Amino acid sequence: MNQSHELFERAKKIIPGGVNSPVRAFRSVGGTPFFTKKASGSYLTTVDDKKLLDYVCTWGPAIHGHDHPVIREAISKALQNGTSFGTPGPDEVEMAELLVDIVPSVEKVRMCNSGTEATMSSIRLARGFTGKSKIIKFAGCYHGHVDSLLVKAGSGALTFGNPDSAGIPESFAKETIVLPYNDIQAVENAFTQTEEGIAAIIVEPYPANCGFILPKDGYLEALRRICSQNNAVLIFDEVMTGFRLGLGGVQERTGVTPDLSAMGKIIGGGLPVGAFGGKTEIMNFLAPLGPVYQAGTLSGNPLAMAAGIASLKLLRETMPYERLEKLGNQLAKGVKDLANQFSIPLQVPQVGSMYCLFFSEVPVQNFEDALSSNAESFKKLFQHCLNNGVYLPPSAYETCFISAAHQEDDIAHTIDCIKNAFRSF
Ligand SMILES: *Cc1c(COP(=O)(O)O)cnc(C)c1O
Repeated sequence: MNQSHELFERAKKIIPGGVNSPVRAFRSVGGTPFFTKKASGSYLTTVDDKKLLDYVCTWGPAIHGHDHPVIREAISKALQNGTSFGTPGPDEVEMAELLVDIVPSVEKVRMCNSGTEATMSSIRLARGFTGKSKIIKFAGCYHGHVDSLLVKAGSGALTFGNPDSAGIPESFAKETIVLPYNDIQAVENAFTQTEEGIAAIIVEPYPANCGFILPKDGYLEALRRICSQNNAVLIFDEVMTGFRLGLGGVQERTGVTPDLSAMGKIIGGGLPVGAFGGKTEIMNFLAPLGPVYQAGTLSGNPLAMAAGIASLKLLRETMPYERLEKLGNQLAKGVKDLANQFSIPLQVPQVGSMYCLFFSEVPVQNFEDALSSNAESFKKLFQHCLNNGVYLPPSAYETCFISAAHQEDDIAHTIDCIKNAFRSF
């Protein structure tokens, strides 16, 4: 038995499912997870000394590659001064200034400790600000494990949600309206039919948690218009896309400006961080200025701030986006060509350093389309790649990430690996 197996056996006895986040358990791709002892650049090293080319990039944060020397240096410098103060510290101000400077919609910002906290607090703030309680989310968009956002579509045209997890009361889920992504009419109808009004729309502007889906032309613009017309708060959850699809995220790419933005992942430089920010008028509703309570013992933690500031400054200095776009294009084109060659139905949506592989005949525009892609084919590809040193995300419905540490050779190697997999399809 190898060490990963041994660790997994030990873990399963005392950690539910052996993991601290469910997708890590490899349930949807079969087999058992490997354990990592070290990560550097574009590679992970397992406890069994296997080197794997990594397209998960710690689920998004590692845009500079793993263990970047500049970020490591920033953390060890901060460590000299202690690990937590419980008072305001200078790095919190620098971080806030950076975020306000970089993200178009952000005039004021509050730090927290995870993406989940960022969306949870954004929703509470939107409700407090508007005095309304119903919110709209879209099927397939993931916003962390917040009660009111772990809701799936119910039946019926206007779908008040059903809990998507045990432990969430129906009465909570009823406050969330779940609509299909990319369908503006459904949003118009929801606003017309909801008499008590709607506090907010929360959306991953480019959904990246059910594979990777892109908005139809004008879709995000229409969400913006509808929110403005109805005094509803438009929340972009850019925890994944922020600082990755361009420095200022999707809002910068598209020019559509939300009222609030949820952030996380990259802004922690690999440490646990979240943030939410937006219009001053709305942010001033937060305690201690306003009536909406939100807090955190470790919020603005000095180590996390140091890592995050280093990560953001490095992005500004290196501006890796053009190169990442090129690598992303190469990979997507290479894989699409192979699919044609082997007559395998495959869609490869890709923007910059994000892509995914949908084994589907038709372009994927929403959650239902994503679910109808062939997950068995993905599973086969995943296992083949893993056996040949390439680690894709262990689920057909996750996005793959390229980092600035990935090289053209890595891309070529990946295409080769996928070619061999397709031979056996
Ligand atoms: C990862 C993610 C979250 C949750 O962030 P955590 O730090 O895991 O709580 C929320 N929204 C989106 C879009 C994400 O990708």
